[in-house]
This record gives sequence, C-alpha cells and structure tokens, in this order.
Amino acid sequence: MSNKTQPRILVAGTGPAGLIAALALARAGFGITLIGPEVRKDDRRTTALMMPAIQFLDGLGIIEPIRTKTAPLRVMRIVDATKRLIRSPVVTFRASEIGGQAFGLNIPNGVLNDALEVSINAEPGVEWRKTLVTRWEFADDTITAVLEDGSSATGSLAVAADGRASTAREAAGITTTTHRYEQAALVLTFSHSRGHADTSTEFHTETGPFTQVPLPGDRSSLVWVATPAEVDELAALDEAELSRRVEDRMQSMLGRVAVEPGRQIYPLSAGLPARFAQNRVALIGEAAHIFPPIGAQGLNLGIRDVQELIDIVSKNTDDPGSKAALAAYDRRRRPDIFARTGAVNLLNLSLLSNVIPAQLARSAGLTVLGGFAPLRALFMREGLRPGSGLRSVFSDLREQIRR
Ligand SMILES: Cc1cc2nc3c(=O)[nH]c(=O)nc-3n(C[C@H](O)[C@H](O)[C@H](O)COP(=O)(O)OP(=O)(O)OC[C@H]3O[C@@H](n4cnc5c(N)ncnc54)[C@H](O)[C@@H]3O)c2cc1C
Repeated sequence: MSNKTQPRILVAGTGPAGLIAALALARAGFGITLIGPEVRKDDRRTTALMMPAIQFLDGLGIIEPIRTKTAPLRVMRIVDATKRLIRSPVVTFRASEIGGQAFGLNIPNGVLNDALEVSINAEPGVEWRKTLVTRWEFADDTITAVLEDGSSATGSLAVAADGRASTAREAAGITTTTHRYEQAALVLTFSHSRGHADTSTEFHTETGPFTQVPLPGDRSSLVWVATPAEVDELAALDEAELSRRVEDRMQSMLGRVAVEPGRQIYPLSAGLPARFAQNRVALIGEAAHIFPPIGAQGLNLGIRDVQELIDIVSKNTDDPGSKAALAAYDRRRRPDIFARTGAVNLLNLSLLSNVIPAQLARSAGLTVLGGFAPLRALFMREGLRPGSGLRSVFSDLREQIRR
C-alpha cells in the first residue's frame, strides 16, 4: 500500500469485474469512485474460478469467509455427446496430473457478489455511487462521468466494467465486432443421489455444451446451452420432467436428479473490441470480451484484466490514464484476450458445424489431448495461467539437458 495520494480512478459497473477492480485498486492505494447499482442478488449462476484467480481473490480476503460455500474442482471431463459420425473419446483432466489438489473452486455468484459487497463497504478507499453513468466527458488530463442522480465524478482514468453493452467503451470511441449466436443458456442447480467426486463434466452436443459443475454436498450447477427455442421449452417444464431430462442428458452419471426451484436464461453472443483502452478508458470484464460459457473462461479472464491493470497503473501513479499507460494495457491484454476469445468461439462453432472437416479437427484435437499426457499437462497449465504451460515445458527441457 502506497502512502502517496494517488489520482482518482473511476470504476463504472458493479458486476463481479467492477467490484473486484474497485477493491483491488483501492488496496493498491488509489482513491476509487465506484459507480453502479446495488449488487445483483438474484444471479443463480455459479462461477468456476481457476487457482490463479482464487489466489488473487484470497489476497483480497474474499475466499476464506466463503470457502465452505464453494466446491473444489479436482477433475474436469469432456464427453463428446454428439450423435455425429466423427466423435472423440472422453477426455479427463486431473489436477493431480500437474501436481495440484484442485484446478480451482466453483462459487455461487450470489455468494461471491455478497462477499465483494461486504469488503467494499468496509473499504475506506472506495466511494460507491449507487446510480448509473448517463454521459462521459473528456478533457486533456481527466475524464468525467455524469451520473443519473444529477451529480458527477472526475478522475484520471475510467475503468469500464459496465458489461457487454458498455457505454463507456462506446463513448471512448472504441468500436466492437459483435456476433449473436442462435444459442441460449439455461442455468439451474440440482441435487443428485450419487456423489460428484469434485468432478465437472462438460457434455458437447450439437447445440452447444451441457456443463455440470460441483457444489458442496451432493449438489451441482448446470449450464445447458441449446437453441433459444429449446431453452424456452426446457425452462417451461415442470420439475419432475426437467429433472428427468437432465438425468437423461447426463446418462444417469450422478444417479437420480432433482432440479431445484429457480431457472434463468442467458442469451449467448460474442464480441471483441478493436482496442482494450483509449481516451482515458480501460476495458475490463465483459466490456472487453464476450464469448459463450465454455471451459469456464469469462471471469477468469476478467480477473487477469484487473491484475494487469493494477500492475500498469501502479507504474504510472502520476497519471494512470495517460496515453502511455493505456497503450501498455492494450498491448499487454491483446494476446491473452485474443487467444481465449478465439479458442472458445472456435470450439463453439465446431460443435454447431455440420461440416466434416470442422468435426474432424475438433475430434482429432480432443483425441490427441486424451491420449498424450504431456500435451494434456501443457493444456491444463495454459488453461490455468497463460504462458505457464510453455514455461513449464522449457524448464523441463532445461532440466533434462542439464542432466
Ligand atoms: C451461463 C454463464 C456461465 C458462466 N460461467 C462462468 C464460469 O464458470 N467461469 C467464468 O470465469 N466465467 C463464467 N461466465 C462469465 C462471467 O459470468 C462473466 O465474465 C462475468 O459475469 C462478467 O462480469 P462483468 O462484471 O464484466 O459484467 P456484468 O456482470 O454484466 O456487470 C456489468 C455491470 O455494469 C453495470 N452497468 C451497466 N451500464 C452501466 C452504466 N451506464 N453505469 C454504471 N453501471 C452500469 C450493470 O448494472 C452491471 O452491474 C459465465 C457466463 C454465463 C452467461
């Protein structure tokens, strides 16, 4: 924590990315004005966060108070449940293969949001204005948010955490390529008669992934991606029929299923801005990258946005929104965001595609991963932290050459 008074930073948006950014930037010594409504209490999703993200949140004091409400992810499995001619074998990733106890933790969004809210309310460095930004005004060395309640806030940098339809991004003149998928996700939780053994299973189907993620006890969360019409039909079923459909899809892997009350639908889309910072605005979270929920990437990537941003603004304390600082942020985030966005969209498209070469490529990729342990280890390490898989291959090689 620095003793020097730093220039003010505005954070727009009170989803998980904005809350984490506000808290972490305040702890780094910056005065923060957080702008956005009360934290959402009705989000029934859960978020699988990988160990690097968990360690970062732990450093902010978020994890210990909620640990008992989270479930470890020790095994992650991909099952090709398509009925196509070309299918791949089941691929199983075990954290123990790369010397870890778990890949990460699955956290109910309501639990994570509540914990972030409690910490922010106790954080003297954060002033929270519970309203919306209606307009952004730009000057040479400041940026001002004009707010719905008639007040305004000025800072050196604005962190845009205002989600997929970010108005801060648009005001900064950053264009975005978007694509709406003919897919939606049905989200719910369910209990089951057989234990999940801390295993998450992603079933790949012709309409998208069907992903079960463990919760504490004999409960799991489900993200069922299908066409919007199918999702509407599923969401309208009574509990007994929906439970039966979930159990069928899971090939009774977890025994008898009983869905719990409360279902939500999320339409799926993809979006990639042309830049990740410009005109005193830095994009984080879904303002910076939108893609379908495959392989638990979204908020993990959002947390890496926050980590990189803190590193850069801490080296530019005189003017964290300067051109040099924003250019560094844009440069640093590009490879990671492009790689994750590209991989997730490609995998999703290869599932939907009826084209044989696309199915062949996906199946061949998964078959090689399933059968070749060193490649699987590389993939798992890269999944946790970009660059760490390759670094580990090089250090193994160095070790072998030394011997
Ligand atoms: C079904 C599903 C499952 C997922 N599972 C996972 C997972 O397992 N692991 C993972 O890492 N990721 C997962 N994700 C992705 C993850 O949920 C998102 O990355 C994350 O929620 C994005 O958070 P955010 O804060 O960027 O955006 P949002 O949560 O959309 O928050 C945006 C905020 O901005 C506010 N806002 C909007 N306009 C304004 C304004 N003008 N002024 C002020 N505030 C404004 C809104 O009120 C809101 O508070 C999943 C996504 C889906 C859809």
